[in-house]
Amino acid sequence: MSPRPVAWKTRRDMDDELQEIYDELVRRNPGQEEFHQAVREVFDSLHPVIDHHPEFLRDGLIQRLLEPERQLMFRVPWADDDGEVHVNRGFRVEFNSALGPYKGGLRFHPSVDLGIMKFLAFEQTLKNALTGMPLGGAKGGSDFDPRGRSEAEVMRFCQSYMTELYRHLGEHTDVPAGDIGVGTRELGFLFGQYKRITNRYESGVLTGKGVGWGGAHVRSEATGYGAVFFLAEMLAVDQQSLDGRVCLVSGSGNVALHAIDKLQQLGARVVACSDSDGVAHDPDGIDIELLRRIKQVERGRVADYVDERDSATLEPAGSIWQLECDVAMPCATQNELDDDDATALVDHGCTAVVEGANMPTTAKGIDVLQKAGVAFAPGKAANCGGVATSALEMQQNASRDSWSFTHTEARLAEIMARVHQECRETAQECGANDDYVVGANVAGFQRVAAAMHAMGLI
Ligand code: NDP
Repeated sequence: MSPRPVAWKTRRDMDDELQEIYDELVRRNPGQEEFHQAVREVFDSLHPVIDHHPEFLRDGLIQRLLEPERQLMFRVPWADDDGEVHVNRGFRVEFNSALGPYKGGLRFHPSVDLGIMKFLAFEQTLKNALTGMPLGGAKGGSDFDPRGRSEAEVMRFCQSYMTELYRHLGEHTDVPAGDIGVGTRELGFLFGQYKRITNRYESGVLTGKGVGWGGAHVRSEATGYGAVFFLAEMLAVDQQSLDGRVCLVSGSGNVALHAIDKLQQLGARVVACSDSDGVAHDPDGIDIELLRRIKQVERGRVADYVDERDSATLEPAGSIWQLECDVAMPCATQNELDDDDATALVDHGCTAVVEGANMPTTAKGIDVLQKAGVAFAPGKAANCGGVATSALEMQQNASRDSWSFTHTEARLAEIMARVHQECRETAQECGANDDYVVGANVAGFQRVAAAMHAMGLI
């Protein structure tokens, strides 16, 4: 494609142009508020990139980057243990493959709809780019609610879901992993069905597999551990450490459990965790082994933890950010920390917020935290250790190799240090010192945009 001359643009022109693109996005994707929110946050960071690369405003590059390459929606019929038939909706949004095969988790939760899938797939695209690994971006899932379902029901649902999805997957095409409601058990059922239908033992088609059947050490731990490594890097900038820090971690699923574990390994005291029914407040520090048993073995609730732990009390759902802390890590779901929560955190002396979940802090919440000087790490940067370790799992599958826990954890720590450094340096280049939101958005965006630009009109 022959390059067209670059029109000279003022900042005002660029503001107007980005605003027009955003307005068009809202118009063409009605009701998808989380998707609008995720795009707005990125646009608010983009001026410095457009200043240096006016070509990104040509050839519709930004508009192309905002439109998923492919959006799949399909019927998932299954029968419960009483023989009653249910019909759920399955999704896979293959957002961008400029840097590698589509990559991103599957979420099973009743709140799942196309807008949530698109926000997650868009975030995933920039996050995966930020890792520096050869990964495109995607997200998938279903509005299926695994809560209260028997193991046999979950298996039948996973088999039905994969019976449609398998035709779109492949180790060089699209590689899902877990997310909310999808852990090693569900990935086992999904992988088993893929293997049956295709008659191929294609390990690299899914990540987050069990260690005994193609999974990588540290993949389960990676998102939570990685977020804590990122936090440790942030503190180290001011010659501080996690030792003795009081922390709040929302959620009690995969990301939260491993964040709590690593925080405590590094000397912090985590005094609360949660689920959608309540908050376990434990001033003595969460007993991670007890919590792990209740959540992972018994599939229980934080209320069960409080029942078994004398030092803990059960507080109302959503009240976790009202507690005192030095560090807060939202690790449950999107928009779980709003401006009122942020104000409470600031008033109670919180100095750092690190997102383990995807977009858990509202735009107003981020604004309150940043204006108060709280160090803030967006999920795009802080939780990218999960997908980065998925890329390590794909490497091991491709070479039919298996690395030790210690080696893989060291690789994860290196990756998080590199991502932290890149976010800082990019923010500085943009004149936005210490703003990890700008650093993460710009660094991720530049990598995807440059690849798309090089590949012509894709
Ligand atoms: P899990 O399903 O293992 O755990 C989710 C936790 O969050 C549960 O404690 C759940 O409580 C709580 N939760 C979920 N939805 C809500 C809600 N609407 N209101 C209140 N609490 C809620 O999921 P993960 O730990 O894997 O994922 C957590 C977050 O981290 C998500 O944002 C996910 O996208 C993100 N993430 C996950 C990665 C991974 O590797 N797993 C990678 C990168 C990001 P309850 O049981 O009551 O629903």
